[in-house]
Amino acid sequence: MKDIELPMRVIVGDKAIDKTSLLFSELGLMGHSLVLSDKNTYRAAGEKVSRLIESSSLILDKPMGESIESACAKIKENNVDYVVGVGGGYVIDIAKVAAFRARIPYISIPTSAAHDGITSPQASIQGERKVSVRVHSPLAIIADTEIIRMAPTRLLSAGCADAVSNYTAVLDWELARDEINEYFGDYAASLSMMSAKIVMEKIDCIRDDVSILMEALISSGVAMGIAGSSRPCSGAEHQFSHAIDMICPDSSLHGEQCGVGTILMAYLHGIDWVKIKKVLETIGAPTTAKDLGVDDKCIIKALMEAHRIRDRYTILRDGLSREQAVDLAKKTLVI
Ligand SMILES: [Zn+2]
Repeated sequence: MKDIELPMRVIVGDKAIDKTSLLFSELGLMGHSLVLSDKNTYRAAGEKVSRLIESSSLILDKPMGESIESACAKIKENNVDYVVGVGGGYVIDIAKVAAFRARIPYISIPTSAAHDGITSPQASIQGERKVSVRVHSPLAIIADTEIIRMAPTRLLSAGCADAVSNYTAVLDWELARDEINEYFGDYAASLSMMSAKIVMEKIDCIRDDVSILMEALISSGVAMGIAGSSRPCSGAEHQFSHAIDMICPDSSLHGEQCGVGTILMAYLHGIDWVKIKKVLETIGAPTTAKDLGVDDKCIIKALMEAHRIRDRYTILRDGLSREQAVDLAKKTLVI
């Protein structure tokens, strides 16, 4: 049996945020709401959203675990009926987890386009180590491109790299289907692959039209909703990124690391890794260890550890030896 959960409404465009109260009344959202944001995203959009829907709001500024507890406490205290997350990955992930625990819906209002977590039914919780947990899909997504365009360009580049990484994630999924008979969803895989391809084809236009990227990231979230897991958008390139998070934490952004991982895994899959590297360079995303701000040793170790990150069959199979990792990183010019 399949149980597919998707957002009911998605609004993308300039001034989309102005539609918030109309959309909420169309969705039948009533009662007490809580707007979550951080200091910066409160200024960028959180304050306005709170005003538009006459909501209470909470500004998050603590480590993730503590902020989740504060959000949960506030939900209980105010008898909150739905949560609105206004921000980037940190805020939206807290909104997802807090709403999931309270069994109430949440709405995602991303203020940047740095990765597909802003729309996916997965939350990544940063504690002593990063863990990915299954939550609900957002009830609705409001992506105001005017606000997203104001975000630092580095976030936009990282978002493009995260979308491009769907490419190798889908190839890994196909491999698992062929080699270990894993369940494979054609629709989820096609949707994910299409998002990567469109971003690659239109990479030159994305700075002027962020809706191209936003739609790709939303489609990635939908692909994960259809698959019921992050499988369509997360393969060995994501394992590599998680390994970097553990080996040299806080050195670069999730999407940036996934982009470099995509170059490496594309080489292993035997596809045109040079094209992927060029696309990432065009949008200003990192393609080397130096760009990521990590040393060569970190890349080699991450390549050797990546297959252990989670129980997911990928092109890394049983893992790479040191020699294989060095060879791969050198051939793809990552080190
Ligand atoms: Zn990702």
